[in-house]
Amino acid sequence: MSTQVGVQTYDLFINGEWVPSSSGETFDVINPSNGTVVAKVAKGSKEDVDKAVEAAHAAFENAEWREMSPNDRADILFAIGNNIAKHGQELVLLEALTSGGTLRRVGGNDILMMVDLFQQMAKFVKEYPFSETLPEPMFPGPAHNFVWREPLGVCAAITPWNMPMLIATWKIAPALATGNTIVIKPASNTPVSTLKLAEIISEVVPPGVINVVPGPGGEVGESLVTHPKVEKVGFTGSTEVGRRIMMLASSTVKNVTLELGGKSPNIILEDADLDLAIPGSLFGVFLHAGQLCESGTRLFVPNSIYDDVIDRLVALTKTLKVGHQLDMNTSVGPVISQAQKDTILSYIETGKAEGARLVCGGKEAEVKGGENGFFIEPTIFADVTNDMKIAQEEIFGPVLSVIRYDTVDEAIEMANDTIYGLASGVWTRDVNKAYEIARKIKAGVVWINDWHMLRNDAPFGGYKQSGIGREMGKYSLDAYTQLKHVHTSMVHEPEKRRAFGILFPEG
Ligand code: NAD
Repeated sequence: MSTQVGVQTYDLFINGEWVPSSSGETFDVINPSNGTVVAKVAKGSKEDVDKAVEAAHAAFENAEWREMSPNDRADILFAIGNNIAKHGQELVLLEALTSGGTLRRVGGNDILMMVDLFQQMAKFVKEYPFSETLPEPMFPGPAHNFVWREPLGVCAAITPWNMPMLIATWKIAPALATGNTIVIKPASNTPVSTLKLAEIISEVVPPGVINVVPGPGGEVGESLVTHPKVEKVGFTGSTEVGRRIMMLASSTVKNVTLELGGKSPNIILEDADLDLAIPGSLFGVFLHAGQLCESGTRLFVPNSIYDDVIDRLVALTKTLKVGHQLDMNTSVGPVISQAQKDTILSYIETGKAEGARLVCGGKEAEVKGGENGFFIEPTIFADVTNDMKIAQEEIFGPVLSVIRYDTVDEAIEMANDTIYGLASGVWTRDVNKAYEIARKIKAGVVWINDWHMLRNDAPFGGYKQSGIGREMGKYSLDAYTQLKHVHTSMVHEPEKRRAFGILFPEG
């Protein structure tokens, strides 16, 4: 795969066309490995959001799209999957180059997940109960009753920079599968893969069904969240911004799905197979330089094996190659920006000041040719206590906190002692014990002897302040539909209507 991409300018994608922003302004997108500008992107504004929402609204009002049969819609979803596969190489390169995701991950996982998601959606849409018939009512008299699941209308998708393209598809696929239209606001660090994805999808859907308006969260994002013609907001990002979006969406009582932050607990039990648990726990925290919402950032280890586990974690971490994301030998790529790098380094300083023991990493990583990039050594703190800031706040970088415990109950209590509840994990040879712990953990997913295993047919989302609602799987279709009850009375004589008698006692 070629790794050369010229600096290209991208316009907004509205109504099936590339259009410049109304202000004519653009912003730069950089490669986080070396700080060079790799693209210029039109900077959207409120005016552009209005245009995109109008286009999406007109597309939704077109009954041909909204009322398409599930079979025809399944064909479209399949075609989208095929188109993504056809353009896979370009999408992977754009995503890796701008997000810092390694080619190994984006090309070996994300793009395959995206194709599979649309293929699975094509199946779900055929099986989804768009119309259900209810049984004969006991009261007040014979009737036919249906429950219909109908699309919501124009949906807004607001996405983060860490896995921008994959996360966008978690919103696009269910929205389109159920007959909605969508306006996407990608994060400003990483808009180009989403723009390209929209162009590819628009080849098989009517104009206006999918639109992308990059630009600042405070203007483009908030204009979408408060727009009277937007019926739903699907947001993935920080808990802080999620809170604001929920508040703003309340002004027009919008439906919201929020996929927010995490501080996921990972519990190694005494009987765990450490040959599996050690690489598995490092995979759980250092993939994508720790910039994954469901990373296992708090590792709970029994006192009895604590020192051995720390030694093994450190030894294996030292073998990880930090480097350019397009280098196939790289395990850990750059973090997204100078600002993110500064935040992570400042958390590392906080950890030291709080009394945690730095046993690995802890500073900028030196990468040849990456002097202007944003690299951080995979970092491990031992002797962390669960009340420390580094154990409670989301760092969103390659930093692992290892916490001691004596009893499993104590580990579970600490695991749940967080405002978050996105993911969790247990390493043990005793599956029954693992299920018992899984029941007690307050999180949207529990991985047993594994990590990061999302499936396109399983729900994903958070407990507590990690979010509201679920994405992925058939469950995500519920989040993009609303229920309508249709009642037809089968009693035609007014005098036999028992309910009417409540108002007309004399019959
Ligand atoms: P962020 O919250 O800063 O930004 C997310 C998106 O919201 C961006 O597009 C941004 O421009 C936009 N935005 C910012 N302010 C806004 C506002 N006032 N109104 C509307 N939109 C606004 O998050 P980020 O830094 O891009 O991503 C990292 C965060 O995302 C982490 O907290 C991570 O845990 C979370 N995340 C969660 C999941 C999940 O599925 N739960 C997945 C990935 C990332």
